[in-house]
Amino acid sequence: MNEKYDASAVEAAAQAHWQSTDAYRVREDKPGEKFYACSMLPYPSGKLHMGHVRNYTINDMLTRHLRMNGHNVLMPMGWDAFGLPAENAAMKNKVPPAKWTYDNIAYMKRQMQAMGLAIDWSREVATCSPEYYKWNQWLFLKMLEKGIAERRTQVVNWDPVDQTVLANEQVIDGRGWRSGAVVEKREIPGYYLKITDYAEELLAAVADPEDKNYLAGWPERVRLMQENWIGKSAGVRFAFPHTIADDSGALIQDGRLYVFTTRADTIMGVTFCAVAPEHPLAAHAAAGNAELAAFIERCQQGGTTEAELALKEKEGMPTGLFVTHPLTGAQVPVWVGNYVLMSYGDGAVMGVPAHDERDFAFAKKYGLPIQQVVAVEGETFSTDAWADWYGDKQRAVCVNSGDLDGLPYKDAVDKVAELLAAKGLGEKRTTWRLRDWGVSRQRYWGTPIPIIHCDHCGAVPVPEKDLPVVLPEDLIPDGSGNPLHQCATFVDVACPQCGKPAKRETDTMDTFVDSSWYFMRYTCADNHDAMVDGRTDYWMPMDQYIGGIEHAILHLLYARFWTKVMRDLGLVKADEPFTRLLTQGMVLNHIYSRKTPQGGIEYFWPHEVENVFDAQGKIIGAKLKADGSAVDYGGVGTMSKSKNNGVDPQDLIDRYGADTARLFTMFAAPPEATLEWNDAAVEGAHRFLRRVWAFGLKLSALAAPAAEAGDAARKLRREVHQILQQVNFDYGRMQYNTVVSGAMKLLNALEGADAAAAGMPAALREGFGILLRVLYPATPHIAHALWLELGYGAEFGDLLDAPWPQVDEAALVQDTIELMLQVNGKLRGAIQVAASADKAAIEAAALASADFAKFSEGKAAKKVIVVPGRLVNVVV
Ligand SMILES: [Zn+2]
Repeated sequence: MNEKYDASAVEAAAQAHWQSTDAYRVREDKPGEKFYACSMLPYPSGKLHMGHVRNYTINDMLTRHLRMNGHNVLMPMGWDAFGLPAENAAMKNKVPPAKWTYDNIAYMKRQMQAMGLAIDWSREVATCSPEYYKWNQWLFLKMLEKGIAERRTQVVNWDPVDQTVLANEQVIDGRGWRSGAVVEKREIPGYYLKITDYAEELLAAVADPEDKNYLAGWPERVRLMQENWIGKSAGVRFAFPHTIADDSGALIQDGRLYVFTTRADTIMGVTFCAVAPEHPLAAHAAAGNAELAAFIERCQQGGTTEAELALKEKEGMPTGLFVTHPLTGAQVPVWVGNYVLMSYGDGAVMGVPAHDERDFAFAKKYGLPIQQVVAVEGETFSTDAWADWYGDKQRAVCVNSGDLDGLPYKDAVDKVAELLAAKGLGEKRTTWRLRDWGVSRQRYWGTPIPIIHCDHCGAVPVPEKDLPVVLPEDLIPDGSGNPLHQCATFVDVACPQCGKPAKRETDTMDTFVDSSWYFMRYTCADNHDAMVDGRTDYWMPMDQYIGGIEHAILHLLYARFWTKVMRDLGLVKADEPFTRLLTQGMVLNHIYSRKTPQGGIEYFWPHEVENVFDAQGKIIGAKLKADGSAVDYGGVGTMSKSKNNGVDPQDLIDRYGADTARLFTMFAAPPEATLEWNDAAVEGAHRFLRRVWAFGLKLSALAAPAAEAGDAARKLRREVHQILQQVNFDYGRMQYNTVVSGAMKLLNALEGADAAAAGMPAALREGFGILLRVLYPATPHIAHALWLELGYGAEFGDLLDAPWPQVDEAALVQDTIELMLQVNGKLRGAIQVAASADKAAIEAAALASADFAKFSEGKAAKKVIVVPGRLVNVVV
């Protein structure tokens, strides 16, 4: 056995062993309960970062621990390999995205192997391989057949720099999330998946604990984020009739301006209506009004998310048009408002300034009337300033509202719906915030949409036998749009229906399609004839999914939708894809910077500076080690290249070994909390592993004479099994930081024991065997090496499948216990009694003790009170 812990030799040997035994190949026919543990698949950006190391180590600990506990565990890995960064890298380096992507995959795969992850690589999936995306295309065609997918023309967010459509959430402050370009609105055709058809079911599993698919194993906040995103609201949809006609004399929208409201009880307070800039009434009014037309054009720049609209200064302009109030018959002016979304509901809203904060501000700004129509007892209404109770529907009672007066919210809404229905002008309606999923992207590096456009037959689906539609892998985008347009061998095809020359669709699918079902493909990656098979039903639903909170909405929602579609097509049985979800925290590091004389900011690496602390030990600044000059401390933030605070996992592995990197990331924080980088703690983790090695060396040299365990050995065993009991509990709740601290306590206990005591060598050997198994899921290489060196392998088999150590209940039983001794209620000492001692025996021991003799001053005991397990009080 090596004197010193040599991480690189230990890790190379362990990995060679795992490779030669094909240790991580998983089979469905293996006995044991199945467990599917999966990390969200990475984008092959070039290198692993510390967030990956953390995520995969969590997954690896779970996998190894469960495998030792007899589960049949699957831990696969793949690559989310399509998408924009590859195109941008291609433009920069003049290499095709395919080459860049495959090179990165190869490099990152080597890094993962160096980390010693228990991945079954035989199931690897790269979403850019035709073998994979063929099934995207196949399912897309099935969805077209079933009407779940359809072609529509819609107004979209267009990024003029990236030349693509952006989802609402990809528009930030009116600019493209990646390019920073001011987003334009365009009307273009594309394919949409009807996720809204599944809205009720998607909502129930996150919002209704009684639902059969309720996702109790998900973090509360993720369920809430999905619930809000789906955004179900109940209200009334009704029309303001009008007689506004277009140039041909026809009434615009049949003479009805429809709105939706959740506050129909305030309908008598309407003093204006606001329509979206794209609304037909707005367009009609703008035709003869240059000022309004200019305003509308201004509104169309910038983002369209609700979050953005909420932040935007509310602006409007009157159209000069009027509609009729459906209940009072009053004339109501129509405004164009920059805060009204055409894509939400009917693209128009009623304005009730007295009871809606946004409308209140709008009315104050433009001098529109404000009419109070609900009251709350004890409150006084004033048009001077907004007060929160104006919008309170729970306590509201109608006033100034004719027949509605005196009615509370719910009754008033019912009454209004009834009155509107009687006039044929409205009804109760449920609306959703969720929109159908537009999957067409005007990009090259993605799954080709399997459609052929024929002048005679229209949009014709590619016949199933011609799948996959293979994306050419040798094109290099130059920034002038999708290079597929110029690729004649791709574009020019014969129409599958009439055989005449036709053009292939050049749009590709949103990469969220790729990530919506890859976890199912892992279960049957070698099946060339079907998308999924019986093995998918064996593994699904996934038991534990692990990924970042940034995927809480879109990816998880799309994957849930996709799974339900596959279920409805009879492909899988699962209703929901992910039973449990863990959102691991981010990895943060300290940020040091200072302003340069030129007005820029210069960042420094943490190792270049020395912190300056205040009296409480808080960092208040820093000094540059090189010259002692002052540097500003910016707190902690996500690791980034641009801020000189990233840590390259490879450097860490090269310097200390993978086990140290793994141990540090598991020990530094619970999996769901943010992790602050700390170089000293990394050193500490490495030191701990050296101590484990040193102890193993000592133990290997220890003679083990057979001897009955004495008190010291029994005490050690009790401590070891107590710690094991806690560790088991922490493994169960995935609190891996306290698992590691349990391992540290175990080592302390073993190191502190007297090896010469009776029966101690056997107790130490047992304890070290437990320590190696407790530690193995976190640091598998060193545990594997010591397991073999010390002969545990011969006894229990390969550590991979070695049985998890059982808590020895007998060892936990204490032979003797200590009770506090009180005399007349004052603490006077302690007595030792057998753990099984009854009240009489405890009394006798108390009265016979030296402490009692001393403090009772010769008086006889009048009464003895025993509190079991704690104390004995003698009254004299
Ligand atoms: Zn045709």
